[in-house]
Amino acid sequence: MDNKPWVVGVDLGGTKIELGLVDPDNRIVRRKRIPTLADEGPQPAVERMAAVVDEFRSLVPGGQIAALGICCPGPLDHIAGVLFNPVNLPRFDRVPLRQMISDRLGMPVCMEHDAKAAALGEFYYGAGRDEKSMVYTVIGTGVGAAIIMDGQLLRGVKNYAGEVGHFTVDRHGELCVCGSHGCLETFISGPWLARRYQRLLEVVAPQKLAAVERVTGELCATHARQGEPLALQVMNSAGEALGIAVAILAMTLDIELYVFGGSVSKCGDVLLDPARRTAPQYSFRTVGPRLRLAVSELGDEGPLLGCGWLARELVGGN
Ligand SMILES: [Zn+2]
Repeated sequence: MDNKPWVVGVDLGGTKIELGLVDPDNRIVRRKRIPTLADEGPQPAVERMAAVVDEFRSLVPGGQIAALGICCPGPLDHIAGVLFNPVNLPRFDRVPLRQMISDRLGMPVCMEHDAKAAALGEFYYGAGRDEKSMVYTVIGTGVGAAIIMDGQLLRGVKNYAGEVGHFTVDRHGELCVCGSHGCLETFISGPWLARRYQRLLEVVAPQKLAAVERVTGELCATHARQGEPLALQVMNSAGEALGIAVAILAMTLDIELYVFGGSVSKCGDVLLDPARRTAPQYSFRTVGPRLRLAVSELGDEGPLLGCGWLARELVGGN
């Protein structure tokens, strides 16, 4: 389609807000990061976002930005454009955020869950662009996911579909923040990789522990890549848990492509190889060999491009 509209994608997080100006060819031509300053509440944050969008307008021929898409951590009502009790944005609870931004900017605004927005970006412009179905999982401090089935985002009755991070992969496992036990998140999230590696070091190699300033998930991944046996043990067990989750998804949905984003996905093969080995062991022999596990192609541009796609969809511009 000719003359696709210019749009803005916004990724609202607990500490920072990323904004991207998306041109008619789906390129992010300008990107800006501002602090959320969540303690100040939503109105000042809306004003700061609006100031950036006004700056962006000066870069667009004719100054016309058609719509804005914003994604946020859930839970949220994407239709009403309201967040519910967001952990990192306590003062944004039950505030009509979508409407506030729309009123301030005088343009249509849509809101989506951040994992779902990232999944849409990856589906249309990244690793999923030639696919009909995929599961996208963000692994960072927490684990979120979105399922796209035959081109449609699965939401479920209350928009909770895709809580892959809280699949139980070990029913005798660790207590998770959600109240359940042995959730996938307790194996693969950044804080849990760090915790598990720290515990092993404490018991088996306290001299190694004394040599590092702080144990992080990133450190565990780096050490695993260097062949350090304890770090490899943690990454293998994380990858195996991930493989079980992929097998459950594959057996439920018959989806072949699993894409991973977020900071922990940067671990790459050291995490994904054990998952690739494990998933077929827990699926039908006709399913296992078809499974493909890959790291996101778009990285942190995914949510912005997904929000851009949603914004265009809102004004019929895709
Ligand atoms: Zn959980």
